[in-house]
Amino acid sequence: MTYHDLLTNAFCSLSAQLGRDPLQVQGPGGNTSIKSDGVMWIKASGKELADSETKKIFVAVDLDAARTEANGQGDGNCKAAVIDPEQKLRPSIETTFHAVLQWPVVIHTHSVATIVHAISPQGRVAAAKKLSGLPFAFVPYRKPGLPLTREIVASINSDTQIVVLQNHGLICCGQTVQEAAALIAAVESRLALAVTDVVAAPGESPPEGTRWAANATKLATDPRLFDLARAGSYYPDHVVFLGPALPQFGEAQDRPAMLVKGKGVLIRTDATPTQASMLDCLAAVLSRLPEDWQAEPIGEESEADLMNWDAEKYRMTLARRG
Ligand SMILES: [Zn+2]
Repeated sequence: MTYHDLLTNAFCSLSAQLGRDPLQVQGPGGNTSIKSDGVMWIKASGKELADSETKKIFVAVDLDAARTEANGQGDGNCKAAVIDPEQKLRPSIETTFHAVLQWPVVIHTHSVATIVHAISPQGRVAAAKKLSGLPFAFVPYRKPGLPLTREIVASINSDTQIVVLQNHGLICCGQTVQEAAALIAAVESRLALAVTDVVAAPGESPPEGTRWAANATKLATDPRLFDLARAGSYYPDHVVFLGPALPQFGEAQDRPAMLVKGKGVLIRTDATPTQASMLDCLAAVLSRLPEDWQAEPIGEESEADLMNWDAEKYRMTLARRG
C-alpha cells in the first residue's frame, strides 16, 4: 500500500458530485482533502472538483510540513510540502486549514444555502438555530490562506465538524467520506431556502460583445436585488472572478458582467465559463435572501486584499468608476 491508495474512489466520487452541483461549488471553487499516516491529498489550485474522477486534480502533501506552514513557518502556500517534486500541481490556497483540521476527510464547498445565511446578520442567527444539535462553529470573514486558517483554529474545538465561514462557505469534516457526506446533506437540508419567481432574460438583442445571462435576470428586475448587487461583493470568489460590485452597463463596458436596470444582466461573450458560473452564483444567493434579511458585503479593504491591491489605490480606482 502506497500513499496513492489513500485517494479512494469514494472520496473522488463525492468530490466530483459536489463539483458538478452549482449550488455547492462554482468553477474552481471549493476543495476537498483526505489524510492518513502523515500524507494529505488536497485539490490543486485552479482545478475543478467536477474533474475529480477523470483528471489528476489532487496533489499529495506532507502533513507535518503543511501543519508547520499553518503555524506560521513558511509562506503558507504549502508548495514546499508537496511530496512528489516531479508533478506540476500546486496545492490549493486553502491547504493549511485542511491540514490543521484533525479529521481524515475535509470537504469545503461554496454552498449557496450556507452563503445566503453567512452573509447576513439575521441569516447567521437563523443558521445557529437551524444547526442546533450539530457540532458546528462560525468563523468570521478572513482572506483565504493563512489569515482564514488562523481564524478557524481560534474558533473551533476538537468536536467541531461543521464550520460556517462568514461571507465565504462551508466546511464539513468526518472520520470517513460517508460521514462528511452525511453532514453536508444534513446542513443542506436544514439551511435550504426556496427561490421564488424566476425571471426570463429579455427578448431584445444585447449590445455587441455581450449576451444576456439567462439565470441572472432577477438581479436587474428586482429593485432590492439590483441594489444589493450594486452595493458590494459578498464572498471571495466573486471578487476574484468578477471584480467588485456589479456595475451598470454604461458605467463600465469592460467588466465581465453588467446590470441593465429593469431589463437583465449582460455578460461579455469573451467571459470564461467560471465567470458565468460566478454570476449565476450571485443570482442564486441574492434571490434566496429572505425579504427581512440584510446582506453585508465584505468591504473594499477585503476586496483590495483579495486582488493584492494597495487599499488606497483600489479605492481611487473604484471612485473613478463611479
Ligand atoms: Zn473557499
